[in-house]
Amino acid sequence: MYTVRYKSHHDASSALKKRYTADTAPEPYVAETLNQPAKSRRVIYLHVPFCNKICSFCPFHRPDELRRREYHGYLIDEIHRISDYPYMQAPVDAVNFGGGTPTALTPEQMDAVLAELHRCFSIAPGAEISVESSATELTLEMLEVLKRGGVNRLSIGVQTFDDEGRRLLGRRGSGEHAASRVRQALDFGIVNTSIDLIYHYPGETMETLERDLAIIRSLGIAGLSFYSLILHEKTPLFQRFSKEERSAFVDLGAEYEMFTVILRTLGASGFVPLELTKLVRNSIDRYDYVKIRHGGGSCIAIGHGAGGNIENYLYHNSAAIPLLSEAAPVSRAGRVVRPVYRLLDRLIFELQKGSADLSLWSERLRRDLLKEWEPSLERMQREGLLTLEKGRLSLTESGLFWGNNMIDEWMRLL
Ligand code: SF4
Repeated sequence: MYTVRYKSHHDASSALKKRYTADTAPEPYVAETLNQPAKSRRVIYLHVPFCNKICSFCPFHRPDELRRREYHGYLIDEIHRISDYPYMQAPVDAVNFGGGTPTALTPEQMDAVLAELHRCFSIAPGAEISVESSATELTLEMLEVLKRGGVNRLSIGVQTFDDEGRRLLGRRGSGEHAASRVRQALDFGIVNTSIDLIYHYPGETMETLERDLAIIRSLGIAGLSFYSLILHEKTPLFQRFSKEERSAFVDLGAEYEMFTVILRTLGASGFVPLELTKLVRNSIDRYDYVKIRHGGGSCIAIGHGAGGNIENYLYHNSAAIPLLSEAAPVSRAGRVVRPVYRLLDRLIFELQKGSADLSLWSERLRRDLLKEWEPSLERMQREGLLTLEKGRLSLTESGLFWGNNMIDEWMRLL
């Protein structure tokens, strides 16, 4: 069994990118791709790298404040630069505003960006248009702007409803205030409203977690993303604790216990795992942005620090001054990957959803996964991490906990 748990989705694919880089120059590839109709489904990601209050556990880079006042104009410029390409003419299948905190834009700025998004792109009817927000920024005025702009999915970064926990994590407002903002969004008619929950943070007890879960059960939300806290170096939260306190905090037994309590308690209220860190209820949340992006689609990333892919071109915009390609309006710092990389990315996502037909994937990849992974699969079966039936692999509860470690292990065997 593993001694360190990989908590991030990126851990599962970190071994792959370099290995599957193609011998193709990025700029001609991107220019050629954008000048043809799209081959895959596309989503748009708009990144707002600001927050009005920095959480104590957050390691993300933020550009200086000066750019902030002009930032919505930058997003609009980028929308204009890319919208006329033949690649962007067919309807877009999902839109996601992430960050940072997208609702750190003022309602007027958000209104302008949404208006331009609809004016410049055709968005498929019924497409999920999703916005991440903190509870504090989700005012009635912002909700009105979002609804008018076609936003039909919200992801609210609550993290915990416990007041002491919120203070420790650097979240503003009380737990009751956060719950009231979630209720307000639901009452406003945005039924596809989910929250983010952090568990296993320093000082959290099982009672605190159970109180969070009781509130979640009472809210009627569509789903939640739940993350065990990662103590990143250089964050205020990391620095607050001594080395000894930090090592005492690493307690995989307690972390696993909390993980299973979340799965079981919310499972009793109809929440089912959609992937390793996501539970959904009543199929309200289709999660299209992630499903399409990691299901063989493309993600047009707009904004400082945004990452995406245009077919086989994987890129990450610079967090400060945009490093735009001279041939096309996206970052020139990306790389073209071989088509098999995107197949593997799809396989990883399917495994993260908890189940995959390895016989079928062996055919797609033209290699015998059941044979190549045999010793690893056998060991994991013995350890109770998975079941295997007629070539279909399914993760157990324990497998969902260790999923990113398992997938990383398999990817390193390829
Ligand atoms: S809201 Fe999100 S991005 Fe902003 S500081 Fe908190 S965790 Fe970081």
